Amino acid sequence: MSLNHVRPWRNIYRRQSRKIMVGNVAVGGDAPISVQTMTNTDSGDAAATLRQIEQCAEAGADIVRVSAPDQDATRALREICAHSPVPIVADIHFHYKRAIEAAEAGAACLRINPGNIGDDKRVKEVIDAARDHGCSIRIGVNAGSLERDLLEKYGEPCPEAMVESALDHIKILEDNDFHEFKISVKASDVFLAAAAYQGIADATDAPIHLGITEAGGLMSGTIKSALGLGNLLWMGIGDTLRVSLSADPVEEVRVGYEILKALGLRHRGVNIISCPSCARQGFDVIETVRVLEDRLAHIKTPMSLSIIGCVVNGPGEALMTDVGFTGGGAGAGMVYLAGQQSHKMSNDEMVDHIVEQVEQRAAVIEAERDAADQAAE
Ligand code: SF4
Repeated sequence: MSLNHVRPWRNIYRRQSRKIMVGNVAVGGDAPISVQTMTNTDSGDAAATLRQIEQCAEAGADIVRVSAPDQDATRALREICAHSPVPIVADIHFHYKRAIEAAEAGAACLRINPGNIGDDKRVKEVIDAARDHGCSIRIGVNAGSLERDLLEKYGEPCPEAMVESALDHIKILEDNDFHEFKISVKASDVFLAAAAYQGIADATDAPIHLGITEAGGLMSGTIKSALGLGNLLWMGIGDTLRVSLSADPVEEVRVGYEILKALGLRHRGVNIISCPSCARQGFDVIETVRVLEDRLAHIKTPMSLSIIGCVVNGPGEALMTDVGFTGGGAGAGMVYLAGQQSHKMSNDEMVDHIVEQVEQRAAVIEAERDAADQAAE
């Protein structure tokens, strides 16, 4: 639940899941909902993959997945895992030896479906490797690759088939006394994914990895993900998420954070509140916001900034933000700091000035947080 007791209409009651570890990142229980993405470089190229992982981590990724389709990839994984700033999930399809190699290479988690590994001996070998190397496992059910017997039983991919598939995989891990797993039941169809996730959320206390798979390009995929993941998160379902876009993985991270930010579930960086602009605007709102988003991308401190074209909504929004700018007449507007009207600033200098004000405010917020942490200790 968020701590917004004075605004109960904002509370989200998170489903009670058990907590597992993906490297040093807790997933489930009361851990923050983590944001994941997946690299799209050649996994055998450790340097290129590490570069992309670093960009994703800089954008806020808590965990990054790397596919390990062959031995070149599992060999490179050793260097990737050793130098990655965030825990690595190795994505394995079918081949049990790649799973064992990935665990030995230092992967923090294996994305593998135990029902697809093969006979009991192979399953046990993979689970033993995961256990020996402190790896968790993600069971990743996908509507597009359901087991044939379930498709025959249910006629088509449906929520019940996806939940049954997930429970079958879970049983294999639990029969082997392995409990460090999380689960996803993804589909590209928002309705199917949402229903499957609700079903699995009721059927197990395992942490849940959310995703709308193959969601599409940046715009359409963002909307689909915001609807699907947003609804589930609002219901309290979901402990970690990946937004799947046909776009740069860094964009997936940004969209993941924006979904969590919109629901008040996680905060990172500057939340810009801006108006759509109209004939009343005292400056070019759209261009200013575009430049500010870019210039403020380095700020990690959670804070808010209002950029509003005129006094119709500017002063009201500025009351609730850390830094605000409201357009006025004669080529100048009003700057607000911590909700208070502060001083006038010309439109020509406002971008540099706002960046400076945001950086200063971020430093104050960080110092206050450090002091509070020290006092708590
Ligand atoms: S805040 Fe002012 S400039 Fe912005 S859309 Fe509203 S009326 Fe137009």
